Amino acid sequence: MFESWFSWWDVRQDGQIANNRSRTGEVSARVSTVDDKLERLMLVNAALWELIRDSTSLSDDDLKRKIQEIDLRDGKLDGKMSSSPSSCKDCGRTIGRRHHKCIYCGAPAGGSPIR
Ligand SMILES: [Zn+2]
Repeated sequence: MFESWFSWWDVRQDGQIANNRSRTGEVSARVSTVDDKLERLMLVNAALWELIRDSTSLSDDDLKRKIQEIDLRDGKLDGKMSSSPSSCKDCGRTIGRRHHKCIYCGAPAGGSPIR
C-alpha cells in the first residue's frame, strides 16, 4: 500500500521536474532572443543618433536634455519611458497604453506614435 503510493509520488515528482526543466529551457531561450533584439536595437539607436548628430548642429547634451524631458513626461525621472492610461477623446473610456485606438469605439488614441 505505502510502497505503491510512494511509487506514484515518485513518478509524479519526476514528471513535474521534467516539466519545470522544459519550461526553464523555454524561458531561457526567450530571454536570449529578447536580449539579442535589445542589443540590435541599441546598436541601431546608436547609429541613428550618430548620423543625426554628425549631420546636424545637435550635440550629446541636446540628446541628454531631450531624454530627460521625455522621461519626466510621466512625472518620474526614473530612466524609463512609461505613460499612464489615457482617456478616449470620443467616448471617455480608458485606453491602455499599449493600444493605438480605443477598444470600445475605435477612435485613435493619439499621443506619441512611439508606444
Ligand atoms: Zn472610445
